[in-house]
Amino acid sequence: MADGAKKRYEVAVIGGGASGLFAAAMAADEAEKAGAPVNVTVYEGNARVGKKLLVTGNGRCNLTNEKMGEEYYRGAAALFETVYRQFDREAMLAFFEDAGLYTRSDFAGRVYPMSNQASSVLDALRNVCAERGVKEITSCKITSLKQHGAGFLLNDTFYADRAIIATGGKAAPVHGSDGGGYALLEPFGVMVTPLFPALTPLNVKDFTKALKGIRATGKITLKSAGKLLAEAAGEIQYTDYGLSGIPAMQVSRFAAQRLSVGGEVSAFVDSAPDIPAEELTQRLLTIRKNHPAMTAENLLAGFLPKRLGTVLIGFCSLSPAKEVGALHENALAKIVNAVKRTKYTVSSVRGFADAQVTAGGVAENEIDAATMELKKAKGLYVCGELVDVDGDCGGYNLQWAFSGGAVAGQSAVRSLAIR
Ligand SMILES: Cc1cc2nc3c(=O)[nH]c(=O)nc-3n(C[C@H](O)[C@H](O)[C@H](O)COP(=O)(O)OP(=O)(O)OC[C@H]3O[C@@H](n4cnc5c(N)ncnc54)[C@H](O)[C@@H]3O)c2cc1C
Repeated sequence: MADGAKKRYEVAVIGGGASGLFAAAMAADEAEKAGAPVNVTVYEGNARVGKKLLVTGNGRCNLTNEKMGEEYYRGAAALFETVYRQFDREAMLAFFEDAGLYTRSDFAGRVYPMSNQASSVLDALRNVCAERGVKEITSCKITSLKQHGAGFLLNDTFYADRAIIATGGKAAPVHGSDGGGYALLEPFGVMVTPLFPALTPLNVKDFTKALKGIRATGKITLKSAGKLLAEAAGEIQYTDYGLSGIPAMQVSRFAAQRLSVGGEVSAFVDSAPDIPAEELTQRLLTIRKNHPAMTAENLLAGFLPKRLGTVLIGFCSLSPAKEVGALHENALAKIVNAVKRTKYTVSSVRGFADAQVTAGGVAENEIDAATMELKKAKGLYVCGELVDVDGDCGGYNLQWAFSGGAVAGQSAVRSLAIR
């Protein structure tokens, strides 16, 4: 370096997904504000950044939620809370608004871009990164990370004074997150809690194919040995292997956890969660009285999708052609039970390929919650799904990716100024 020339620092962000791009944008902003000479570079294994972001929220990107708090998170939920307090939803939405991206919420508090297009979130992130001078190096998978003096060497080639690992977890590897980030941590002796798929459908033992393709509102109550594990309501999707849709995905983490220790897991489906069992019984009695010639297959048609009703009647070993007037009280009780409490035995959950998120990850006690820096590797930061934090469906995982990314990016640059 020539005399008088200021050293330029290098901050490397490994992974150009939601958390990595956010970390890079915030690192560059921090450097700009401090007038510090810092180059921020994103290294992305795919040919382009943000591939997974484009498929979030069914292509609409549910980027956060109006209801936010520790209770929507699992794993190191307390870590989420500490990090979120430093960079919350309002700060995140202000960032996007400043980038020209506006949002709106739906009835459940889920926040989407006004454009209803996930691509506009990615475009906004990339524009801010470009404006702040962040460099993208794509088709560049980082497979080795070594301590090198006070900094790090990536792939034995790229030097960085600070490195942020934002490689995601193991969920949906088709989008680039193949779990390689955990291997990068190995040389630093960082503890990773057991990993398992979350927000994924449920495989059901001996599942009847007759249900395949049905979508119906319902509530899933997950139990093991009579103990409540979790419950969630919404649109259940019946597939050829079992239960999918938001309620099934919400409870899947608890099923995976219990099954992993050899427990049995049952999913009880209430197909008419808005009608108490007694009321349903009364209504069925009224139908029987007023329409005795109605066939059993039509008995539930006023409450549920007809095909679901017919299958549930079948579960009660009743012929769909049987006249309702001939149904005894105990047959009606069986039908009410089938509607309110169909039991499915969960054999397993779908794997990482079908999962939206990874449960488990870098353990909470390895991380300085104020900065996202690893306690065992000064100058090395982590964020996003790689960390042992997973949220419910509804924008919680992206909020975590953005909050953690922001804190990691800002802290990495601040540490250059103070050390
Ligand atoms: C289908 C689907 C829908 C979803 N919808 C929502 C939603 O609407 N709302 C919500 O909150 N959450 C949603 N999620 C979850 C959310 O997308 C993730 O939790 C979030 O993207 C995690 O961000 P991340 O930056 O940690 O990881 P990722 O987004 O997975 O990004 C990691 C990036 O790092 C790259 N990479 C990995 N290893 C390396 C390496 N060794 N070298 C270089 N680059 C590497 C990957 O290619 C990838 O681009 C959804 C997930 C899926 C699969």
